Amino acid sequence: MSYLKNADSELFEILMREVGREFSTLELIASENFVSYPVLEMAGGVMTNKYAEGYPGKRYYGGCEHVDEAEDLARDRAKILFNAEYANVQPHSGSQANMAALLTFVKTGETIMGLDLAHGGHLTHGSPVNFSGKLFNVVSYQVDRATGRVNFDEVRKLAKEHKPKLIICGGSAYPRHIEFEDFKAVADEIGAFLMADIAHPAGLVATGLHPSPMPYCDVVTTTTHKTLRGPRGGMIMMGKDSENSFGVVAPKSGRVKNMSELIDSMVMPGIQGGPLMHIIAAKAVAFGEALQPSFKEYTSQIVKNAQTLADAFLSKDYHLVSGGTDTHVILIDLTNKSITGKTAEKALEKAGITVNKNMVPFDERSPFVTSGIRVGTPAITTRGMEEDQMLTICDLIDQVIDNPENEFVITNVKSTVKELCDSFPLYDDLLN
Ligand SMILES: *Cc1c(COP(=O)(O)O)cnc(C)c1O
Repeated sequence: MSYLKNADSELFEILMREVGREFSTLELIASENFVSYPVLEMAGGVMTNKYAEGYPGKRYYGGCEHVDEAEDLARDRAKILFNAEYANVQPHSGSQANMAALLTFVKTGETIMGLDLAHGGHLTHGSPVNFSGKLFNVVSYQVDRATGRVNFDEVRKLAKEHKPKLIICGGSAYPRHIEFEDFKAVADEIGAFLMADIAHPAGLVATGLHPSPMPYCDVVTTTTHKTLRGPRGGMIMMGKDSENSFGVVAPKSGRVKNMSELIDSMVMPGIQGGPLMHIIAAKAVAFGEALQPSFKEYTSQIVKNAQTLADAFLSKDYHLVSGGTDTHVILIDLTNKSITGKTAEKALEKAGITVNKNMVPFDERSPFVTSGIRVGTPAITTRGMEEDQMLTICDLIDQVIDNPENEFVITNVKSTVKELCDSFPLYDDLLN
């Protein structure tokens, strides 16, 4: 069945070309994944039609009884998955989750601390081109040159000197477990709030393969579409809810409001209007999948694949930031291979392998060129690939990086990529 095919063949063809691209290339972008058919069905469903400003049971619109059921399930399942007392599933994206969380805990003009973008942080952790860098005074911490891990001597020194209101931990290109406990110790020394952004490892956190931020952090944000393998979106959680410490009271009763109420009202009406109910319902479907035992098998395989790939690169004399990985991410410093991240990304793309160029810590090249690439295993693991395929993939990447301008090599690699993809089909129901 395709309504689109009949109604708008131009867009239908574009969609089919994207299905074909996803099928026939090796997706190694660490922040991407492939959702299941049930998630796809819900995300493409009629709940896209519904206005539901507000929260379940307290909407500004009628006719919300079914979207309420879906949002309640999404919140309940998220709380079970992450052992959280509170969840808000309405943020349209990870960036909006971060915006709402930051604006709840910090006033504009106050100081926040986050991991430097060039050291693996995220735009929303204080980059000058992002709202976070424009609205707050930002102090960035970095990783240690030798270990590639967060340098806690520096974090502590900066924290004591600048007294941030809030410290953000987590990032987009950090191959190691986030050190929640160490961050908590620093935050406590200066009386700062601690926010964890688990956008990347959320699926690993949900299955116990990465430590949980809940016991240590005042607020936790995430995306739902990376290792968690749900629809594109964001979420905010707290391990424990409590009365707010800012003195905010309910206008009529004078009751001190809970933090959860402040976060809810910062998401809506603070920064968003109507929630994307089709996406919230699809989040509920994805969380249901993540609660199944098979999801833990999946995330365990993600990590095994990443570690196998990391070892394979090390044996070919690649330099990995932090020397390896605990997660789904590998950050390769290509400096000793005489190729830039940009050239490597382009050559690999020609061979059907999708990665992204990435700054490495202390990079001397610009963000548009970079000295590294970031490689991740969530998407290829969803296709069913295992350790054997990781060895092949390392070999293919190595051939391209050694011969970025050799058309013969690129063509050969591309045909092996095609065979590999054909053996691990993806969305083939959509191709017919
Ligand atoms: C991906 C990511 C985000 C933002 O997610 P979007 O949905 O793209 O806005 C936020 N924080 C971190 C650490 C991320 O990796």
